Amino acid sequence: MKEQTQKRLIKIIYGFIILTIFLTFCFFGNFQIFRDFITKIENNSFDLRQSVISKHKKIDNDIVILALDDATYEYIMDKYGYWPISRKVWANVVNNIEKQNPKSVIFDMLFIKPNLTDIDSDNIFIETVKKHPNIYLSMSFDNYDDVIRQSSELKEDLMLKVVDGGLYDNQYITFKNSRRVMKNLEDITNNIGAINVTRDTDGIIRDATPVFRYKDLYYPNLTLKVAMDLLDKKALIIKNNTIIIDKKHKIPLDETQRAVLNWYGKAYSYNHIPLWQTLEAIKNNDTKFFEQFKNKNIYIGTTAMSMGDIKSTPVEYNMSGVEFNCTFLNNILKNDFIKKTPPIFDFLISIILMVIIGYYVLKTDDVIKTISFSILAMMFYGALSIILMLLFNLWVPVVLPFVSCVIIFIIIYCQKYLLKSKDYEQTYQLAVTDGLTNLYNHRYFQEQMIINVNNFKRYNIPFSLILIDIDFFKKFNDKYGHQSGDIVLKQVANILKKNSRTSDIVCRYGGEEMAIILTNTVKKDAIITANKICNAVSSYKFILADSKKVNVTISIGVSSVEKDGKTPQDIIEYADKCLYRAKEQGRNQVVSEV
Ligand code: GH3
Ligand code: MG
Ligand code: MG
Repeated sequence: MKEQTQKRLIKIIYGFIILTIFLTFCFFGNFQIFRDFITKIENNSFDLRQSVISKHKKIDNDIVILALDDATYEYIMDKYGYWPISRKVWANVVNNIEKQNPKSVIFDMLFIKPNLTDIDSDNIFIETVKKHPNIYLSMSFDNYDDVIRQSSELKEDLMLKVVDGGLYDNQYITFKNSRRVMKNLEDITNNIGAINVTRDTDGIIRDATPVFRYKDLYYPNLTLKVAMDLLDKKALIIKNNTIIIDKKHKIPLDETQRAVLNWYGKAYSYNHIPLWQTLEAIKNNDTKFFEQFKNKNIYIGTTAMSMGDIKSTPVEYNMSGVEFNCTFLNNILKNDFIKKTPPIFDFLISIILMVIIGYYVLKTDDVIKTISFSILAMMFYGALSIILMLLFNLWVPVVLPFVSCVIIFIIIYCQKYLLKSKDYEQTYQLAVTDGLTNLYNHRYFQEQMIINVNNFKRYNIPFSLILIDIDFFKKFNDKYGHQSGDIVLKQVANILKKNSRTSDIVCRYGGEEMAIILTNTVKKDAIITANKICNAVSSYKFILADSKKVNVTISIGVSSVEKDGKTPQDIIEYADKCLYRAKEQGRNQVVSEV
């Protein structure tokens, strides 16, 4: 039993080593497909956790959206007959909002080219932007070829000021071209940031890019720019994959230099104020309406499905781009970004879970118990991962640990099954073997006789039986002792095995009598074998414990199914009679007829 436990342990250690190598390979090796697969499901598990915890999040009520919704689009087409609206309308809206002293007015839309047919309107808008230092405008970067658009120099004031450290030159944040704000606007304001978004491979936006690289310089995301002003910071520190705005506001970056967002609920969580209502309020001189802009950070942007600025996020399949920006600002102000655990942690937690589940499964034989324990352990870990995200903003991996646990479960069960079938085999072998001679025992002999008689009846396959009895064995025992008798028994057994085919079944019939069932053998051939054995024994020099050499002879009776009997009993009886005759006729001989 002890030996078995040891063997089992060795196998388990092997299993662990193989699995560890496998996991190491997945993590650090070039096993891209597996890693992509794990990442994909892990991302989905993140979405699930976000959906659960976003219900417990409170949004910052100071962030509101002035929404260009579907109704507004219809309203504008009715009133003005064209889209986009003239920029003097924007000037009018902003001037009315500014009377309420908002914290910031952020245009999540691009003003790239002057409207040549309405230059006066443009100028009114430009004057408005000039007048209010809390208005923010958007630009964007892309990687079009220079043939499509020459890359331009951005003015130095738009650059992000980084005190210390820096970002890697990373393809995820590096761009070739800039869709800049139209020149007249750019000349009068530095409140310009980029509004690029990056989706994961499944098309879902889970994170924001705070910093962009263009012509070897860094430029801020629009929302980061707003946040820096709100927090009164002119420059920031980038260190150890973290953007430090101040002591209380830090943005952790993942390996793609992006910040994983904490989502604050489904679409329309932030207060949406439709633009058409705002335009009506201006028309009706409704000053009370504008009070909802008091002290707010106001994102102006499209929420209309028909205008396409729609993102898929972990908590909502259709969410407007402005809401994404609101969430980003909310995350910065509340210092509430998600931190991913490093790969080495993922690796360690997988090993720990594997050891816990592996140990239990190994120790417990009850299948239901092991399955329940494994499922419970994984469910507990799953629940823990949600709590860690809710309380500490931690994204701990769940998929890799789960996969590891399932693999270890299967490995251990396979081993258990193999060991069990081996145990069974050993027990069976013991049950049919004679301990002294290692031949098959009497019970097995009887079983095989029945099987062979049946085979003959059904398929006409013949077989013969050889019965062997050692001559004067009682005397031998008396003379040399019982122990020497045992040695002779063993050696006779060996001679029988050596002189028969592998298909022959050599048994200890009882005492010093042995039997061989010669399968698929007719009597004629059985007699030849019997004589061969008789001669082999008589010519063999048996060496006893005291090195004395002696000779022993045997007598043999032969019978066969096709000639001497149709039942096991008849066949044995016939062979026994032959054996008796052999003894009578002087021993050390083969008899096959009576
Ligand atoms: P015969 O030539 O007529 O067969 O004479 P025999 O003395 O061999 O007579 P019999 O076959 O009746 O004797 C069986 C003897 O075999 C009895 C017993 O002393 C001996 N014997 C039976 N089983 C064992 C065994 O396991 N070990 C030893 N040492 N002797 C055994
Ligand atoms: Mg006997
Ligand atoms: Mg005998």
